Amino acid sequence: PGHQLPADPEKKTVVVLGSGWGATSLLKTLDTTEYNVVVISPKNFFLFTPLLPSVAVGTLNPRSIIQPTRYITRHKTRAVSVIEADAQEVDPINKTVTFTDSSEIQGDVSSTTISYDYLVFAVGAEVQTFGIPGVKENACFMKELADAERMQRQFMDCIETAAFPGQSTEEIDRLLHMVVVGGGPTGIELSGELHDFLEDDLKSWYPELAGKVRITLVEALPSVLPMFSKQLIDYTESTFKESKIDIMTKTMVKEVKEKSVMLQLPDKSVVEVPCGMVVWAAGNKGRKVTQDLMAKIPAAQTNKRGITVDDYLRMDGTNGTIFAIGDCTATSYAPTAQVASQQGAYLARMLTQMAKKDLYDKRLASLEISATSAASEEDKKKIADEAEATKRQLNKFKLRPFHYSHQGSLAYIGSDKAIADLPFMNGNFASGGVATYLFWRSAYLSTLFSLRNRTLVATDWLKTRLFGRDVSRE
Ligand code: FAD
Ligand code: NAD
Repeated sequence: PGHQLPADPEKKTVVVLGSGWGATSLLKTLDTTEYNVVVISPKNFFLFTPLLPSVAVGTLNPRSIIQPTRYITRHKTRAVSVIEADAQEVDPINKTVTFTDSSEIQGDVSSTTISYDYLVFAVGAEVQTFGIPGVKENACFMKELADAERMQRQFMDCIETAAFPGQSTEEIDRLLHMVVVGGGPTGIELSGELHDFLEDDLKSWYPELAGKVRITLVEALPSVLPMFSKQLIDYTESTFKESKIDIMTKTMVKEVKEKSVMLQLPDKSVVEVPCGMVVWAAGNKGRKVTQDLMAKIPAAQTNKRGITVDDYLRMDGTNGTIFAIGDCTATSYAPTAQVASQQGAYLARMLTQMAKKDLYDKRLASLEISATSAASEEDKKKIADEAEATKRQLNKFKLRPFHYSHQGSLAYIGSDKAIADLPFMNGNFASGGVATYLFWRSAYLSTLFSLRNRTLVATDWLKTRLFGRDVSRE
């Protein structure tokens, strides 16, 4: 009846949770010859997060930055099962995963449990709200594709509502005030993109309103972009000043209301600031499924930031049966796409090695059995020689620990300017103008996964250059 798992009971089953940066990179590199592979993710696609802010202002079409997971799995040597579902629970003792179909249409089975030999845990993280009142209800996030689409609708709603006849000046000012919370790379890139939208398009479509739009970036720490050097922070701050984006540092959002934000200023006083839209880019935290799994291994998993792994990405306390990669882990690396994708590719190579080792182990075991029933001395010698050769092959297997190679950090800050911290240029690099614009774009284009997506994104960029961004609100 229906679709049964695992496909081949003779082979080990690898269950992959997630279809983001870590999981997708793993799937691209993994040799599936020796494994049954099952991918479980509530999204049946990969989302190219670096371009999400461009979707939020309508530069890119949402569909241009996603890639169906089946585009990758269909090219594999053996069939890979892709299941659109939420992993609800992992049982690390019995080695099972329970998952449910939480989509709108349900079949007659909506929850089931399967066994794994190896589990790749790559579920990413979710938005951290710190329990601050009103964030969930009144702010837009910038994490998933739906967040960017929602933000675009809300932004255009603010503009169109401000254009509605008869509004008071205060109400127009409120509707046109956009507050971005969080001075990490997400908040900075989004503010830069909003500014470009304003300059390139809104000025000509809404000449009477565009000059009144204000963008305020609120950051609790003393400076924005703490992971970049002082020189790049200064460059960003001065670019934002020229772009008329207000940066409020040492300022903490205490509450998000329907029409305003409560800000705690550096002198600890709290003010209410009216605004039309709040974008929440204040960082991430572990998902419930991650916290639940960690709670089942309390002795080994005590880090509040996420799952701890050894040098081979094996989750501590699971005897090498669960691997964890990407944003769900707490390592010495930053939670970035670059780290997650390198971890995914590393783990794929390691699993391939492990499968080869298993084959040699099996071969050796069967040779040992044959040796006991060998008829002649000649046969015995033949078997012994082969066993020696197999042992030599086995001795060659040495798993190498994960090594991260930092390619640099790049952030777009609007006005065709980008900042970069590139290891091969010996430090920092900040520049503006056409060269940077092209560099930023080609860097992104070349890291996009498929030719199909590269073509879609390049076409969108061209369309935007020729015709401007679409200001219609769906
Ligand atoms: P994700 O890519 O988030 O993938 C997690 C996957 O797990 C998703 O497919 C999700 O649907 C799935 N999932 C969720 N819950 C479950 C469940 N219960 N069961 C099964 N599956 C589940 N990093 C950079 O290095 N450079 C950048 O320029 C950059 N720009 C960014 C811009 C934005 C706007 C954002 C939000 C992030 C950016 N990042 C960037 C960070 C980067 O996106 C993350 O570090 C990266 O996505 C982490 O990869 P991951 O595989 O751990 O998680
Ligand atoms: P982040 O955690 O880097 O930044 C969030 C910021 O919000 C912090 O600086 C924090 O101090 C601030 N904040 C938290 N609560 C606040 C409050 N109540 N009021 C005011 N400020 C508050 O989050 P991010 O920017 O989403 O980045 C997440 C990860 O993704 C990082 O590892 C980042 O490097 C990566 N990323 C990289 C790029 C890039 O390389 N271009 C782009 C986006 C994200």
